[in-house]
Amino acid sequence: MLNLPTYDDVVAASRRIQGHAHRTPVLRSATANQMLGAEVFFKCENFQRMGAFKFRGAYNALAQFTAAQRKAGALAFSSGNHAQAVALSARLLGMPSVILMPTDAPAAKLDATRGYGAEVILFDRYTQDREALAAQIAAARGMTLIPPFNHADVMAGQGTAAMELLQDVGELDLMLVPLGGGGLLSGTALATRALSPHCQIYGVEPQAGNDAQQSLRKGEIVHIDTPVTLADGAQTQHLGPLTFAVIQRDVTDILTATDDQLVQAMRFFAERMKMVVEPTGCLGFAAACHAGLDLKAKRVGVILSGGNVDLARYAGLLSA
Ligand SMILES: *Cc1c(COP(=O)(O)O)cnc(C)c1O
Repeated sequence: MLNLPTYDDVVAASRRIQGHAHRTPVLRSATANQMLGAEVFFKCENFQRMGAFKFRGAYNALAQFTAAQRKAGALAFSSGNHAQAVALSARLLGMPSVILMPTDAPAAKLDATRGYGAEVILFDRYTQDREALAAQIAAARGMTLIPPFNHADVMAGQGTAAMELLQDVGELDLMLVPLGGGGLLSGTALATRALSPHCQIYGVEPQAGNDAQQSLRKGEIVHIDTPVTLADGAQTQHLGPLTFAVIQRDVTDILTATDDQLVQAMRFFAERMKMVVEPTGCLGFAAACHAGLDLKAKRVGVILSGGNVDLARYAGLLSA
């Protein structure tokens, strides 16, 4: 039996992160409402600390470490937002952190992670097995490994974004959520099933990497090769057993969005709402615009999961 997190864990997480994570704004756009014939509520995690919702889950996990765990610190492997979330959470909680990053990670990401106070250990992604390396470092230093999505405390922490959204705007008809490994979607599902029981919940993943959609259809976790997509926060190869169990139980369906649709949504946010949303963060809105859902007169929640995108890359995508 899997020990799945519950809505009570989301409530506990929201207390733990209070005063540490931002309560991000819910923004609206008359243009978006008009385009979709719906009432759309954007939960802006692009304005979260370190630029993405991942701070919520990482902080919730690290805040529950025992004294001995705190002394040795936290370990993560990631080249993306989870790395920075663990590094920043560790610093705020006064514990050391080690982040394993590939030697070819962008210099800006290495610097940002070090800037949050983490020790960065580089590995060669072609010749070294990062999971084996992580296990070895965790054992040698007594550190606690925090995975990016398949972890009850991480999932519960991610659920606090949807919880805040529903507290702020009331019940919704649909919720659209970017999907990689499923931490955000499963946490969102826990909060939404409790606070807006009739709400349809959709995960949205890149079309090039629709492993979760395949998994839901097949009834078991499907593994794929690392997908080629602009949505670098959703390049996961498979769901985890915990996230899959919650998604299978609570989520309405999984939709996909193409890279072109993500760029179109990114441009919409820049032009109309004056904000930077990274490609992965655009998955929910891209599906609202293109997935053929019936949104007429519906109240629709869209989670904008992050805003971390290299500026030169951003400019290139918008001007192309
Ligand atoms: C990690 C991430 C996702 C995917 O979250 P999962 O919990 O892995 O499904 C989506 N958007 C952004 C910006 C992310 O950093």
